[in-house]
Amino acid sequence: MLCNVCQAPLGAPLYESRGKLSLTSLCELRPGRTRVWCCDRCGHLQGEPLPDTAQYYASDYRILLDHDDEDQIYDTERTADGGERIVYRTQHQLRLLLERLPLPEGARLLDYGCAKAAMPRLLAAERPDLQLHLFDVSEMYRSHWDRLLPRERQAVNEAPAGWHGSFDAVISFFALEHIPAPIASVAHVAALLKAGGSFYGVVPCTVGNPADFIVADHVNHFTTASLHRLLADAGFGAICIEPDVHRGALVFRAVKAGVAALGPEPSVVRPQAQALARFWSELSDRIAAAEHAAGDVPVAIYGSGVYGAHIAASLAHPERLRCFLDRNPFQQGKALFERPVLAPEQLPDDVTQLYVGLNPSIARQALSDQPWLARSRARPFFLDGGAP
Ligand SMILES: [Zn+2]
Repeated sequence: MLCNVCQAPLGAPLYESRGKLSLTSLCELRPGRTRVWCCDRCGHLQGEPLPDTAQYYASDYRILLDHDDEDQIYDTERTADGGERIVYRTQHQLRLLLERLPLPEGARLLDYGCAKAAMPRLLAAERPDLQLHLFDVSEMYRSHWDRLLPRERQAVNEAPAGWHGSFDAVISFFALEHIPAPIASVAHVAALLKAGGSFYGVVPCTVGNPADFIVADHVNHFTTASLHRLLADAGFGAICIEPDVHRGALVFRAVKAGVAALGPEPSVVRPQAQALARFWSELSDRIAAAEHAAGDVPVAIYGSGVYGAHIAASLAHPERLRCFLDRNPFQQGKALFERPVLAPEQLPDDVTQLYVGLNPSIARQALSDQPWLARSRARPFFLDGGAP
């Protein structure tokens, strides 16, 4: 196996999951273990491409498709009247984008790997002057796209010849991690940009969001070192990668001009990846111990994303699982592993064990001062291994 970023040969995998099944970022189980390799030359982490990558993205990868506005929770913020408001991921992305990417009046902009075009929809409302265009590798988003832009501004798989060298900016949100050959895709982006045009995007940061490390469809786990290398090798200059403005993600921008400065040191990556491998290996033991200690009681899982799905898939006694809890109204009413996803306030009275399936870096804060939890008999189990 060769590195997806620098083409160096990779040795043995750094991580291999224990179970015979792996999870995707959409919480589906797929046959096969998850394995992760580390490239010491460029600091890239990567898994194996799905055996059916093209088919998977053409028809199976149905992300947030139920509704134009369906979204993931990024954070909550206090409102003026002392209440709490959900900040959705695309809203946070839009704030950062508008602060960081100067877009002249009437700029030509392409969203590369746009899925249902949630970002262009928000951008169009904010900046109606922009000439927005859409690109992805699936036809299944067309109904969402058609409600936003005419067909000549849309492309699937291949960009029209007239688009080459034409864009002031290409944006890309959570797409590059899915692409088995990111060198070719970033070269494609560079070809689509005008000289001096900007490439701006967001990819998961596996160190800030450990779930990225184990999901089967994220073939790339970028680090600041490997992302810098990928952009520099494609001819981008003025590369800026911010690891701390979008939790669990790297926000990058680069310009099609000049020569890149020297990138971050890749040698820090292997020990960080080893710590992640240890986290996931030990988590199986901790979940098993918690399950044993709780005994034969009804349990629930807080969070219906990858962390919650991982817990559910790890339970030795899944028959004890009553429900998932999720404060995202778009998740409530759905089912995961044939269990209902409920609002937290609907936690059944008889549940005494609550597994907290959230990013460990925010889990404790997210569950602090929750009246429904204080009222319940449920004892929380946190993935970080600390006391409840
Ligand atoms: Zn490499």
